Amino acid sequence: MYKYSFCLVILCLIGCNSSDNKTTIFAGEIVNPTSETVILYKDDIVVDSAQLDMHNRFSITLNNIDEGLYNFRHAPQYQYIYLSKGDSLMVRLNTMSFDESLVFSGHGEEINNFLIEVFLNNEEEEPLIESYYKLDPLAFSQKIDSLRKRKTNLLSELKVDVEISEKATAFANASINYSSYINKEKYPFVHNKRKKEGTITEIPEEFYTFRKGLDFDNKELTYFTPYYDYMKRHFDNLAYNDCATACVNEGDRYIKDHLHFNLHKLKLIDSLVNGKKLRDNLFRNVAMSYFLKVHDNNDNNKVFLESFHELSSNNKHIAEIHDLYEGVIKMQPSHTIPEIDVIDSLGNKVSLKDISNTKKDIVFYFWTGKNSRHFKNIHRRVAKLKMLKPNTTFIGISLSTLEYDWKKILKASDISLENQYQADDIKLLRNTLIIDGLNKAIVVNDGLIVDAYKNIYRIN
Ligand SMILES: [Zn+2]
Repeated sequence: MYKYSFCLVILCLIGCNSSDNKTTIFAGEIVNPTSETVILYKDDIVVDSAQLDMHNRFSITLNNIDEGLYNFRHAPQYQYIYLSKGDSLMVRLNTMSFDESLVFSGHGEEINNFLIEVFLNNEEEEPLIESYYKLDPLAFSQKIDSLRKRKTNLLSELKVDVEISEKATAFANASINYSSYINKEKYPFVHNKRKKEGTITEIPEEFYTFRKGLDFDNKELTYFTPYYDYMKRHFDNLAYNDCATACVNEGDRYIKDHLHFNLHKLKLIDSLVNGKKLRDNLFRNVAMSYFLKVHDNNDNNKVFLESFHELSSNNKHIAEIHDLYEGVIKMQPSHTIPEIDVIDSLGNKVSLKDISNTKKDIVFYFWTGKNSRHFKNIHRRVAKLKMLKPNTTFIGISLSTLEYDWKKILKASDISLENQYQADDIKLLRNTLIIDGLNKAIVVNDGLIVDAYKNIYRIN
C-alpha cells in the first residue's frame, strides 16, 4: 500500500511538472539509514533539511532556486546533485554502498545519473591510470585524453536524446575535465618516483596545453571536490617547478615540508586566483597542511604566518588559522599539555591537564568509530606497547560523533573503559592538539609535552 502511494506521488511529481513551475522537489528513500536526516547544501550553506519518515523516506520542497550544483548529506556521507527550477528529483540509495547504489529518477534525472556515472567511472579507472604513470609524458597524455574523450562523447550522445541546459552541460564538461586533468598534474611526481634510475624526465610544454582552458574564477565550481582537488594539485606542481629553478634543495627533507615550497604556493595562488572564496579556501589549505603536517620550528612558522597575512589578510578563515598557529606554538616540547576537556565513561568532564598531572608518563592516542580497521590496529598496537612499557599510561581519546557509541565499540572489543575518554568538542580538540592523522600520539612526562607529533607505530 505504501509503496503504491509512493509511486503515485512520483508520477504526480513528474506529470505535474511544467516549464513555468518555480517549485523544485528533492525527495527519496534511504535504505539502511545511518542518520535521521538529509541536509541539502548549496556550497557550504544549508538550504534545507528533512527528517526521514518511518519508511526512511524524505522530501524537500524548494521555491525559485538558482540552477546549479547542490550537495546532500546523509551523515557521514554526501554526494552532489544538480538542480533546476521545476525539477522533481527522486533519489534512492543504500548506505552500504552509498555512491554505487545511487539512482535518480523523475524530472532532472538525466544530468544527475550522468554525473554519478562519471564519478563512478573515474573511480573504476584509477587502477588503469596508475599503470599509465610509467609511460613517457606524451604517451601518458594520449591515454588520459582518450579516457576523457570517451566521457565527453557520452555527454554528446545524451544531449541528442534529452534536453540538458547549457549551464548543466558546461558543468558536466567541467566535471569530466577537472577530474581528468588532475592526473596530468600528478604525473611529474608519480612518474619520477616510479623511475628506477633516478633521472628526471623533462616534460614537454605541449603536455600542459590543457592549462590554457583553466578557469580560476568559477564560482559554480568552488565547492566541487574534483575542481578543488585539481586546484590543490595544480599549485603543488607549479610550486614544485618554481622550487626546481629558484631554490637550492637540501635532500634531507620531503620538498613539501620546506618553508619556501609553501611560500611559493601562497604567491602562486595570489597571482592566479581571483575568486574570493576559492582564494580563501586555497590559502587556508596551504596554511592548514603546513601547520598540521610540517611541524616546523617557531621562526619558520612565524615567517609563514607573516606571508599569509600579507597576501590574504581578509581571509574568512583567518581566525581558524591564527588558532592553529597559536596551537602549534603551544604544542612545542616542554610546554604543559593544553587545558582542553574530554569526557570520561561516566559522563564527567575532565581536562587533559588534570589527567596528565595524575600520572608520570602518559601517551595519548586517538581513534574514531568511523574507521573500524584503524580502531582494531591501534588497540592491538597499544596492547603491545603496554607490555613493553608497563610504567606508561596509554590514554585513548575517541573522536567519534554521537552517531558512533564509543563505549559500546570499546566494550565489544573487551577494552577497559578506565583510560578511555571522548572528545568534548572534536574540532576544538583536533585543532588544539594539532591532530593531522589518526596514528599521531602525544608523549607527556610530568605534565609536560615531550613529543606532540609521535607516530604511535614508531614508539619503542
Ligand atoms: Zn623553493
